[in-house]
Amino acid sequence: MRDLSRLPKAHLHLHFTGSLRVATLTELALERGARLPSSLTGSEALSVPADKRGWFRFQRQYDIARSVVKGEGAVRRLIREAAIDDAAEGSRRLELQVEPSSYARELGGLTPTLEIILDEAALASRDTGVDVGIIVAASRIRHPLDARTLARLAARYAGDGPGQVVGFGLSNDERTGITSEWAAAFAIALRAGLPAMPHGGELLGPEHLREVVAHLHPSRIGHGVRSADDPELLAHMVADGIAFEVCPVSNVSLGVYADEADVPLRQMFDAGAQIALGADDPLLFRSRLVDQYEIARGHGFSDAELAELARASVRASTASDSSKRAITREIDAWLAEPDPLS
Ligand SMILES: [Zn+2]
Repeated sequence: MRDLSRLPKAHLHLHFTGSLRVATLTELALERGARLPSSLTGSEALSVPADKRGWFRFQRQYDIARSVVKGEGAVRRLIREAAIDDAAEGSRRLELQVEPSSYARELGGLTPTLEIILDEAALASRDTGVDVGIIVAASRIRHPLDARTLARLAARYAGDGPGQVVGFGLSNDERTGITSEWAAAFAIALRAGLPAMPHGGELLGPEHLREVVAHLHPSRIGHGVRSADDPELLAHMVADGIAFEVCPVSNVSLGVYADEADVPLRQMFDAGAQIALGADDPLLFRSRLVDQYEIARGHGFSDAELAELARASVRASTASDSSKRAITREIDAWLAEPDPLS
């Protein structure tokens, strides 16, 4: 029972506004004279059914929160606090996902928005010791042509270091749009050396996961838990080296599984899946990175297995090989410490 907040790890699934602290959201709203619903500021985590209405409730909350993240100060503060909070949880590498269009109007357009985000990611990396890379994510509720614009923009800042764009994603309601229509945007990103990290296999099952794999060529899949519905597909994805960003509390909050115990962590782990646990949207789900590892412990994962999950998160990250080796050595050291309870 070693301290999981001291287990070095990489955090690969965290959304921009979704990372906000409730206290910061409240302050930003006050500054702007905006009123927030008690559902956002209260103590209850969001809990909705996994249908269109449930997603709508989730999205409405997210949009209200996003509406107060305006201006350079708010954007920089959000990134800095995400890095500080990750550092406190043993994260060494944060790959933060952003759809920059949502913040561009007040920041003079897409390019300056992304440049501010990358600049602060570099500064926060330097100050916190957590390397912050940015995943530019297109949204399923926008036109696929917008995704191409974003992919071209992302490509100009591609790299694996802090303050660079480390991947290209696709987020929002998985049931929206035709997946193949985003293939062109992902092809632009892939040609620029940006790995594909779309969401998939969360609200829809194996059939849609196959489409995501075929058209978007992911190196990592956001969620992908529904691959467990089809062991053959899961085995294929594992063999193809696709890693899984698994966010157990998010799955339960969004009604994908009734209970944390139902999230197929053990099944995926035993099938050889590379799993990077993530918090997704702590603002709405009231659960952060270490909580996901605690849930894995609740599933019976031993400290050696939890260390293996952490190693998998590092392997699945876009960090440089030397940085991966350094973090992995720290994980080994964590496991080599005597178990305080034995
Ligand atoms: Zn997500």
